Amino acid sequence: MKKATLLITAAILCSAPLTAQEVLEQPTATAVAPHFVSPESLLKQRVHTLRLDGSKYRVELLKVGDVRTKVKRISDQKEFEIPLSMLSKKQKILVTEWQAYNEFYNPEGMAETEFLTASSKVDKDIITADTDGYEVSTINIPLMETVLKVQFKYKHKKRAQAKRLTDLMRHVVVDYEAMTGVPFPGLNPYEILEIPGYANLGLAGPTDMWLCGLDKAGEWVLAHEAVHIWNAGGSPSWVGEGLADYVGYLEMIKYDGVFLEVELREDYIAFWNEFQNTDKDYPLSEKKYDYTYGATKNMIFWELMNKEYGDDFIYACFAHNATESKLSNDDFRDLLKKFGEEEPERIMSGWIVKGAYLLE
Ligand SMILES: [Zn+2]
Repeated sequence: MKKATLLITAAILCSAPLTAQEVLEQPTATAVAPHFVSPESLLKQRVHTLRLDGSKYRVELLKVGDVRTKVKRISDQKEFEIPLSMLSKKQKILVTEWQAYNEFYNPEGMAETEFLTASSKVDKDIITADTDGYEVSTINIPLMETVLKVQFKYKHKKRAQAKRLTDLMRHVVVDYEAMTGVPFPGLNPYEILEIPGYANLGLAGPTDMWLCGLDKAGEWVLAHEAVHIWNAGGSPSWVGEGLADYVGYLEMIKYDGVFLEVELREDYIAFWNEFQNTDKDYPLSEKKYDYTYGATKNMIFWELMNKEYGDDFIYACFAHNATESKLSNDDFRDLLKKFGEEEPERIMSGWIVKGAYLLE
């Protein structure tokens, strides 16, 4: 940092106006930044709770960059980069002040913190042995703002399946950034963990991803879960979950993913034909999502939307859910109109709200 800039940042911290000369002569912590009186209080102020996708993480904020922040998780001392958007305004101000304070008074004691950027050197992929029959595959994916390091821990005998999943992961994160316009919103490095016997097929958000045994959780599950890095907590579930399935499906087709036997398209279409217009069939916005009937109807619905309005409409809905937590029925009507639909109810009826099916 240039000296002139240093003085300007230090001056911003002053409670009373000081000339640059005075700042240089009286570098006392109390006069300039009364909050940072001792190393302990300083550390205390830099420990923050990040709320991500329902979990709380206590982290020490290390450095705020232009687009990302470096933090250290207290529980295991692991360092991550997180998007700046994960910090509150107050946290951002505090860390920026602390940085400026340190740059001026304690430049030697500052931790060297380098940010990963899209132009950072990309390491080679590596596989390392872990305990209990696991191994970890580490891959690097150059993204909009960073080089994303993905660490995938799986049972070593599943190496072949794991390789397919990491190959797909390389594609989907690049595509999801492009579809939503939102730079990777998760932790970097990002962990994927195979948990054989896990009750669900998968679970993911900005912090990490869990996959059931890789015989059950295949490429479609990974592509679905990766959507949740962008739309975690996005509602309603016919959009959040429905799009995770459908966007994941588009990626499967694009990259020749292998569908598992339980995922075959002809099977869910046959299932839909069986229960459409029975008491199992409900308008998607009017009942809590279920992973059998709701999920099937959702796939059919989003395929229809793609046929009517094209991929861009699908991405627009995904982008909405990635930037705002809720996509209401009215938001959906507005998006339909934006894509040229003159009668949104023609689409909504039967599918999303009560009524007869007007579009099939
Ligand atoms: Zn999901």
